[in-house]
Amino acid sequence: MASNGTTRVVMLGTGTPRPDPSRSGPATAIVVGDTPYLIDFGAGVIRRTTAAYQNGVTALGFGGINIKTAFLTHLHSDHTIGYPDLIFTPWVMGRNEPIDVYGPKGIAAMTDNILKAWQVDIDGRAGGIGDHDLAGCKVNTHEIAPGVVYRDRNVTVTAFSVQHEEMVDSFGFRFDTPDRVIVMSGDTGPTQTLIDHSRGCDVLIHEAYSMATYHCVSARAQDYRRRHHTSSIELAAIANEVQPELLVIYHRSNMGGGAASADSEDVLLDEIRALYKGQVVAGHDLDVF
Ligand SMILES: [Zn+2]
Ligand SMILES: [Zn+2]
Repeated sequence: MASNGTTRVVMLGTGTPRPDPSRSGPATAIVVGDTPYLIDFGAGVIRRTTAAYQNGVTALGFGGINIKTAFLTHLHSDHTIGYPDLIFTPWVMGRNEPIDVYGPKGIAAMTDNILKAWQVDIDGRAGGIGDHDLAGCKVNTHEIAPGVVYRDRNVTVTAFSVQHEEMVDSFGFRFDTPDRVIVMSGDTGPTQTLIDHSRGCDVLIHEAYSMATYHCVSARAQDYRRRHHTSSIELAAIANEVQPELLVIYHRSNMGGGAASADSEDVLLDEIRALYKGQVVAGHDLDVF
């Protein structure tokens, strides 16, 4: 497991809305010492968390029961489908404290609606012989604005606005820990705010699509990509300006590519490496950096 410092980045899900069995929905854990912090909760988040635990990232706890603090980049379904999983599965596994979730406007309503939707389950497990502590499925939500949104002895988390077209309340996050600076792009086109927040960081986790796939999709899909996401060429330019110690590509969108779209990971890396000479890798589920 490749990490010497006390802060580790655990790629739990590196996928997109496309239900690729080898890539869970977007989810990343930043583990500082023994404390895990979660960014996004896409499909399969707790199963991947448990796999990471079994791989030796024990700070997560079995079934993610040690995750008490989570951050959400934006409300798109691929980043939030695992939310009931995050709320209920660790509770069933023994979490007996509330979690705190920091996210865009709308996260409070989404939380309330999920709790309502699962009310029968909550009543059943908390009452009678289920005997689960109701506190363990409570969520304290925090609707955030750009700036420092969280601080404790391990970490300062700064949210910054990104460019995801109609999802106007979309954020990237910068984690300042005792030994590292880690920046997560969320879903975004190129923005100055990301550059300003990630200059000289240790790890930049950034979404991207390849130009090879871009040229294969409809004009409409190309337009969608330009408004919502970052191309290989754009990401290389960002990396040249920011100069991260390590660039990790995730959320490799092939919007408009359809179900049969080929895996373009190598092509995407080649496109970036042609223009950027720093260290860049493609993130896979359960990679640790
Ligand atoms: Zn997404
Ligand atoms: Zn999105």
